[in-house]
Amino acid sequence: MKLIFLGAPGAGKGTHATKVKADYALPHISTGDIFRANLKEGTPLGLKAKGYMDKGELVPDELVIDLVKDRLTWPDCQNGYILDGFPRTIKQAEALDSFQDIDAVINLVLDDETIIRRVSGRRMCSCGATYNVELLGGKTTCEKCGKELYQREDDKGDTVRTRLEVYNRDTAPLIAYYRNKNLLTDIDCNGKSIDEVYQAICNELDKI
Ligand code: AMP
Repeated sequence: MKLIFLGAPGAGKGTHATKVKADYALPHISTGDIFRANLKEGTPLGLKAKGYMDKGELVPDELVIDLVKDRLTWPDCQNGYILDGFPRTIKQAEALDSFQDIDAVINLVLDDETIIRRVSGRRMCSCGATYNVELLGGKTTCEKCGKELYQREDDKGDTVRTRLEVYNRDTAPLIAYYRNKNLLTDIDCNGKSIDEVYQAICNELDKI
């Protein structure tokens, strides 16, 4: 299954892609994670992406498209994959169409107010786990590995609003793009638990 997870920052793409990865044995390809890993390693790609990421802007299409095109040739992608955070523009979607046939696009729908609250409250661990301050009850360390949690730079302050604006301007048009291709399924996440949303996603995937 070749899947795209679409949705605003904080809608739950990463959380659910991680679960689908485990249950359906598909690689989870997050362009944001790839950029952050490159940044940590100080690679030229990471350094080029940094300025855009810090401001909550999109990294230029050319950089992302080449990266994903290459990643999808790896052997682990032979039976499919979950794309999380790509495509984010019509240009990226058109490029993807030129080298891949996508089976389904899962669109996680969540209202703006909840998105801002979720992203501002998101806390990360270097092991990959993510939490929300509202559910941490004052704890500051990771339940899985005990390390200190931190907040992503771009989850802070005004950058969250910029990212939501960028999403609405550049990425939301992909909803119509994939709906027209009959590939899109909306999953309403408002007022739903993680388990309820995940069950709805699995119901859709099991139809493919
Ligand atoms: P994410 O972890 O998906 O929220 O991505 C973090 C940041 O990485 C974004 O705000 C962008 O600056 C950059 N980024 C990730 N994926 C893309 C993409 N497909 N196109 C452009 N920029 C991206």
